[in-house]
Amino acid sequence: LEINLVPVFHSVEEFGGVLLVLQDVSAIRRLERMRSEFVANVSHELKTPIAAVKGFAETLLGGAVNDPEVAKSFLQIIYDESERLNRLIGDILELSKVESRRVPLQFSPVELSSFTAKTVELLSAQAASKGITIETDVENDLYLEADEDRLRQIVMNLLANGINYTPEGGKVTMKVEAVSLGKPAPVPDGVESDYDHVRIWITDTGIGIPKKDLPRIFERFYRVDKARSRSSGGTGLGLSIVKHLVDLHKGSITVESTVGVGSTFMIELPVIQQ
Ligand code: ADP
Repeated sequence: LEINLVPVFHSVEEFGGVLLVLQDVSAIRRLERMRSEFVANVSHELKTPIAAVKGFAETLLGGAVNDPEVAKSFLQIIYDESERLNRLIGDILELSKVESRRVPLQFSPVELSSFTAKTVELLSAQAASKGITIETDVENDLYLEADEDRLRQIVMNLLANGINYTPEGGKVTMKVEAVSLGKPAPVPDGVESDYDHVRIWITDTGIGIPKKDLPRIFERFYRVDKARSRSSGGTGLGLSIVKHLVDLHKGSITVESTVGVGSTFMIELPVIQQ
């Protein structure tokens, strides 16, 4: 609690008394703490690839450059770590934008079966390289008011995680279904629809997430297995970005998972924004 005394004047000469201001600053303090934790996390995350780039460059300069084989493998590491830095910085900027709600969303009607087909197509090479099949199950003519690019970003993140955390030969499924939770909404062309929400389910047959980690996976930089996330190019920021983007669409996201069996992420979005 912060206590301030503020003098009050009715006019330049007339002193009216003292105003006692009691302000609960715990929320402000909490925000400050979160911000400084974030800065500490970011610095730590950035230091690791920078240390690798610097270390391998030093070793090259120290003479390793004369052995072409060694030089090549060190240069590859330097290249990979620079790429990682790029991804990290991109994700950090993106997260800070969505966190502060500095993203002007462009809402328009999105037809979900062609949206799904297009989105899955973008990940087909990545899935094929691991022998993973992506299946879809979407009714025709389901509409949703959304920022199409942002919605794609949400779904691609979840599908990419499904692919990353599923062993070779597995399966990732995207299912879309319309639900009615209350008052049916008009669909974007003005006709009344019998659904007011859309649920998107993304299921994989992957490694799963332990129960104790489930509540934390939407936190920034939280990973169940750091080495595994790193080797698949992860930054630990994807799900926090997804969570914020879903919030910006007034939706919610939930997850269920069984270790060794797979995970299911479910996004529920209102059909109409307002
Ligand atoms: P990352 O870049 O590490 O994938 P995310 O924010 O996307 O970061 O996810 C956070 C963590 O949640 C991951 O490191 C991983 O441990 C876990 N995770 C996310 N999606 C899945 C999934 N489909 N299957 C298993 N674990 C997952």
